[in-house]
Amino acid sequence: MADKAYNPFEMAQAQFDNVADVLKIDEATRKLLRYNLREYHVSIPVRMDDGSVEIFRGFRVQHNDARGPAKGGIRFHPMETIDTVRALAMWMTWKCAVVDIPLGGAKGGVVCDPHNLSMRDQEQICRGWVRQLSKDMGPLNDIPAPDVMTSAQHMLWMLDEFETIHGQKFPGFITGKPVGMGGSLGRKEATGYGVIFTVRETLKELNIPPADTTASVQGFGNVAQYAIELYQQIWGKVICVSCWDQKDQTSYSFRKIDGIDLEELTSITDRFGGIDKKKAKEIGYEVLPGDAWIEQEVDILIPAALETQITKENVNKISYRVKIIAEGANGPTTPEADKVISERDIFMIPDLLANAGGVTCSYFEQVQSNMNYFWEKDEVLGKLDTKMTSAFAAVSELARNKKLYMRDAAYVIAIGRVAQACKDRGWV
Ligand code: NAD
Repeated sequence: MADKAYNPFEMAQAQFDNVADVLKIDEATRKLLRYNLREYHVSIPVRMDDGSVEIFRGFRVQHNDARGPAKGGIRFHPMETIDTVRALAMWMTWKCAVVDIPLGGAKGGVVCDPHNLSMRDQEQICRGWVRQLSKDMGPLNDIPAPDVMTSAQHMLWMLDEFETIHGQKFPGFITGKPVGMGGSLGRKEATGYGVIFTVRETLKELNIPPADTTASVQGFGNVAQYAIELYQQIWGKVICVSCWDQKDQTSYSFRKIDGIDLEELTSITDRFGGIDKKKAKEIGYEVLPGDAWIEQEVDILIPAALETQITKENVNKISYRVKIIAEGANGPTTPEADKVISERDIFMIPDLLANAGGVTCSYFEQVQSNMNYFWEKDEVLGKLDTKMTSAFAAVSELARNKKLYMRDAAYVIAIGRVAQACKDRGWV
């Protein structure tokens, strides 16, 4: 997406370099893992609704597949850049490795703005992207999934195109499909619930009963809403959430000191996760500036909106009561802010671990699709809990034993596993 003040791929490479030093990874393995194995740039001609032809630029990047087929979403965004896609592909490799699922990392994107495209135009883009890449992706080498501004419907069009080209059914080619058309029960809950499985394990380790804790959440979309649902089920209290206001082009925080009512708040929320502030006021919420979520006197902060939200400008606003930060979003903390957090006594559950429930459930979907046999929701969520809990235990044990920051411990495990797989295969 938008190229910010930093280049995301350079940031991902810098993170890798730090861990490669800690792990004393040899030169050849570093050269292999600092870059992507393969990347494809495609042009997609689409005959638009008005009869004109437009050419869309698309990408697919496969960072590494030593541990299994590459896996990662495809984004539609007008400001998509190859460097964002490269960084996200690399992060996918580490995320799959930290939760120990047998997949590598990939990411894709098309430069387009779905807000200004009819559904028919979007269908043509989906089909065109698959046509250009159908020889290079597949259930045994690279499995796409939805991401920013792509949905279950887009996945189904892509699957249909892939199956049409190959003349056979391949339900395991893509994940994030609609339930009933090869999608998995539990997928919509998976990322948010996964965040809370790791929060629950942290609280156990810190010996704090969840019922004694409060939380503040940035975002009120898929990840945030399901994280709040499970956190409330274990008796935690959320006092503040924040979200983007499309009309005002700014964000607001919504606070209720007695604890928000999830059902009440979702009933006044649009499908993009924006809360109606007039209605919120009427039902007793304080409407505060967007950044207020970070200043709350709570035990747990859950950034679950978008990247680069905890920065050197606002990190010092975090209350001294905060004990845990669980990164529901990808990359919500900038490196400068991360340094401050690591120096304070805050337990960081880093993105690659905290939000890995999404890709773990996508892996379950792929397994179910390949078997053409689907599990009940409880079974999916039970398996997810087991995976997240054991991944958390491995990272926190390493962090404790080696006195590492949790993010560094997660990277050490993930990169160590991928480097070992490359070595075992005889690549380096
Ligand atoms: P979503 O689109 O459903 O919700 C995003 C929420 O963030 C909305 O409530 C929106 O209003 C809010 N938001 C946007 N800009 C904001 C701002 N400046 N300040 C405050 N709130 C703002 O998205 P999602 O699927 O919940 O994803 C959230 C994050 O989690 C993203 O970083 C995404 O990459 C990451 N993630 C999602 C999944 C998944 O399965 N959905 C998996 C892994 C990681």
